[in-house]
Amino acid sequence: MNYDVIIVGACTAGTFFANQLAMRGLSVLVIDKDSEQDLCKRLDIIHFTRDSFEQFGVPESLPGDEEFVRHFNLCYSKSALNNHLKENKINVSVLHLPLFIKRLRNTAKQNGVEFLFEKKFVDLLRDDDGRICGVVTEDGSKYTCRLVVDASGIPSVVRRVVRDKYVEDFAIGPRDKFYVLLKYVKLNDPNLTIEHSTSWQYYKGWIAPQHTPGGAIIGVGANLSFDYARKCMAKFESAIPLPDYTLQYEEMGSTPYTRPPFSFVGDGFLCIGDAAALTKPMNGEGIPMAWGHCMIAADVVANALKEGYPTAEKLWDINVQYQRAEGAEYAGLRAMLVGAMKMTAKDNDYLFKESIVFKSDDYVAKSSEAARLVKGVLTGQFALKSFVNFVRAIGIGNKLTKHYKNFPTNIQDFDKWRTKALKLWKKAGSMADTVTDAD
Ligand SMILES: Cc1cc2nc3c(=O)[nH]c(=O)nc-3n(C[C@H](O)[C@H](O)[C@H](O)COP(=O)(O)OP(=O)(O)OC[C@H]3O[C@@H](n4cnc5c(N)ncnc54)[C@H](O)[C@@H]3O)c2cc1C
Repeated sequence: MNYDVIIVGACTAGTFFANQLAMRGLSVLVIDKDSEQDLCKRLDIIHFTRDSFEQFGVPESLPGDEEFVRHFNLCYSKSALNNHLKENKINVSVLHLPLFIKRLRNTAKQNGVEFLFEKKFVDLLRDDDGRICGVVTEDGSKYTCRLVVDASGIPSVVRRVVRDKYVEDFAIGPRDKFYVLLKYVKLNDPNLTIEHSTSWQYYKGWIAPQHTPGGAIIGVGANLSFDYARKCMAKFESAIPLPDYTLQYEEMGSTPYTRPPFSFVGDGFLCIGDAAALTKPMNGEGIPMAWGHCMIAADVVANALKEGYPTAEKLWDINVQYQRAEGAEYAGLRAMLVGAMKMTAKDNDYLFKESIVFKSDDYVAKSSEAARLVKGVLTGQFALKSFVNFVRAIGIGNKLTKHYKNFPTNIQDFDKWRTKALKLWKKAGSMADTVTDAD
């Protein structure tokens, strides 16, 4: 059978996107290297904002559903010196990922999506003109289609071999991701429960609810390696007085922490989810981010396929719509956060004290952030060096946001846009540059 679309990767991005395309009348095949029963088992508990269900048309997981764990509605954060609690009202769903993905898959199947498991993508099929026309799997099978979608997560197995002038083939390497170490723990005090999440951004550490009564998840994310993440966990736990606990088990995984490719599309190609490095700069959440991008892409793909072969030109509007909106916002935020991390614990404490970057929902500013930063320097509460780094990062972030808002609608103008974007990202640096004690 010749499919309209083949998606490589059957986890949260690939399965969601497949369903969206099937609902628009397209024939879709999803392949995954893993067996159906092992799918997405790398992670157990996931959290994401509850309104994502309605926003992206996914039937909500509710008490009684096998994947449902619980809800909570407050997310706190505190400074590096454990002060100045910030409170944000965010309704969060806590779910078992492997069971949730099973439900998403069943919905997609009901809408006509076909799934094949234990099918590892190894190469693209090309027609006589060199255009993408399908995939080859490790067992030698060939499947044909008009559009191949990379939803393979961090390995980005298709994007890395696509060789298209618009698509970057970079690997998401150790400097470009966060190694996440999660400790599932049981609190020793039977009267204590973790009902909400609390983050200490300075340590990229947090504590959040899990599925067993009296339990919690303590997490840390860090660039470079799992070894370094473990070092960061030790630093976090020695700096912040967390409740006493007994370790149940550990989970480790990694999540992209780098800018997405400038173009998500090429001739007969699209990348989504972690393969497109789509995670929230503030907390690494990837599932709803991928869905937002997929919603844009589904309409554009459905239209492009009505007109024959989906060239980069026909898919270009995915880039335009995404990069000019969320892409612009997160590019600025990503650059700014590099500056916000290049400082001491005392400086971070001042940002919290003055609600600069880190603020509660109900905070009302009486003066500008710039004025409060200057006050911090003049009163010796905020180091001049941190001030310079931070103001510089904000400036570059603003330029990036502006540049992304002008993402070219005409594909001919892309090269010029990309050249300037590369210069700005070089100036912005990366979160990995802020690591000072990896050895
Ligand atoms: C520890 C940790 C905790 C997280 N917690 C949250 C959270 O609470 N909330 C949230 O929103 N996000 C969370 N994230 C991020 C989130 O898990 C990812 O952003 C999301 O799972 C990415 O989904 P994806 O479908 O793009 O890729 P993946 O989940 O990586 O799926 C890729 C799929 O492609 C398949 N594949 C790979 N190579 C091939 C190949 N050659 N051929 C065929 N198939 C292939 C894989 O088997 C896999 O099934 C967390 C990440 C980590 C590491």
